[in-house]
Amino acid sequence: MALHLHNTLSRKVEPFEPLNPDGSVGMYCCGPTVHDFAHIGNFRTFVFADLVRRYLEFRGYDVNHVMNITDVEDKIIQRVREQNTTLAKYTAQYEDAFFADLKVLNCTDAHHIPKATDHIPEMIEIIGKLMERGIAYQAADQSIYFSIENYQGCGCQYGRLVKLNFEEMRQGERVSDDEYEKESVADFALWKARMEEDGEVYWPSPWGEGRPGWHIECSAMSMKILGTSFDLHLGGEDLAFPHHEDEIAQSEGATGKPFVKHWLHGAHLLVEGKKMSKSLGNFFTLRDLIEKGYDGREVRQLMISAHYRETFNFTMAGLDGAHTAMARIDECVTKLRDVKAAAGDSTADAASEVIEKFTAALDDDLNVSSAWGVVFDWVRDCNRRLAENQMDAATAAAELAAWERIDTVLGVGKAEEEAPVELTALLEERAEARKAKDFARADAIRDELTKEGWTIEDTPKGARLKRG
Ligand code: AMP
Ligand code: ZN
Repeated sequence: MALHLHNTLSRKVEPFEPLNPDGSVGMYCCGPTVHDFAHIGNFRTFVFADLVRRYLEFRGYDVNHVMNITDVEDKIIQRVREQNTTLAKYTAQYEDAFFADLKVLNCTDAHHIPKATDHIPEMIEIIGKLMERGIAYQAADQSIYFSIENYQGCGCQYGRLVKLNFEEMRQGERVSDDEYEKESVADFALWKARMEEDGEVYWPSPWGEGRPGWHIECSAMSMKILGTSFDLHLGGEDLAFPHHEDEIAQSEGATGKPFVKHWLHGAHLLVEGKKMSKSLGNFFTLRDLIEKGYDGREVRQLMISAHYRETFNFTMAGLDGAHTAMARIDECVTKLRDVKAAAGDSTADAASEVIEKFTAALDDDLNVSSAWGVVFDWVRDCNRRLAENQMDAATAAAELAAWERIDTVLGVGKAEEEAPVELTALLEERAEARKAKDFARADAIRDELTKEGWTIEDTPKGARLKRG
């Protein structure tokens, strides 16, 4: 089976067929709005994007991954004003924190990380095209709005990702806020005329000083890097309307070409069954969980334990479960490494059965819970063969190679701990001492290594250090 993914445009699971048959895939994921520390809900979406990227690469695609930074929009400007600081200073702290958190969660860096404030000319260019085509207009407040009526008049359809009730929409009504509900569908702001509250946050434009609306930012950054039409666009489900709907309208309105072939939306994360909120005390940043003693691998495992289109209920018990699950995998992998190492280092082709089952699960619209089922069946089977002494070094090497391949997608594995160079130097000194029949020195070295937490294991290719 080929890879199948749900497409919000068609509302169906369909074969994933990139625009370019050469195997390249352009993928854009809406990045964080750096107005505060990102919460674990946000990270569910970013870990989901990471899973998509890693799986596409596992499937042999050459992915060009873009994730933007929204460093100017309504909430940020409000905070900058409240704290009497500058936009750059305010956003830098949260941007740094965001990337540090992504590292803790072992998310692969995007190839391009454009910032909205570095792309104002590109946004102005798109707005200019929309003005030329009569799809945008300047209102009495001097701001530029996207005209839904004129867009539809050009034969385009507004309301592609979500069903909209145009009956309730009053023509010409405008919304200037970056965020609004489906019920308030209206002409939305592309360029917001400078207001006193914006302080120093404004840029010149052919229509007067001001700042971009949120939605135009992603149209400009994605098309600049990935071209007018690209393969894959993703984000959390709340972004489908209005953000992504508006992105389609602005982009297709300006270029006359189809914007994105495949839209993927990740469902939200709830905490203990409720929407996260500071007042309910169920609001967590990644840092909160690390402070409680969990590690990034456990949080990551939990976040990718359920299907991306299902709302995920995050609980502390679930996190404890992830801790146990990771320990089971670690234990099995350590034993396999020991069996492999006991025969000296050997390389092997990956065991294929587990990889085939894992691939079949993820090909089915990233059915990750089924993929985890495959992994845990494999762990159980390896443990049984290890316990029955039916795992020779070559088989262990093949099973390990399979796990390493699978873990290029899951990203939760623990690298084998290597002994520090001063200890490997001691190990060599011990070999020399033994050669010289200085057994007292050899024994002293063994004791020293034991004190450091390492044991010596003799293999056909010489002695090696093993943790524990
Ligand atoms: P923001 O920084 O608010 O622009 O959000 C960054 C990403 O997090 C977007 O893709 C949102 O859709 C996503 N997001 C926000 N809240 C949640 C949540 N509770 N669960 C999953 N994703 C979320
Ligand atoms: Zn976006």
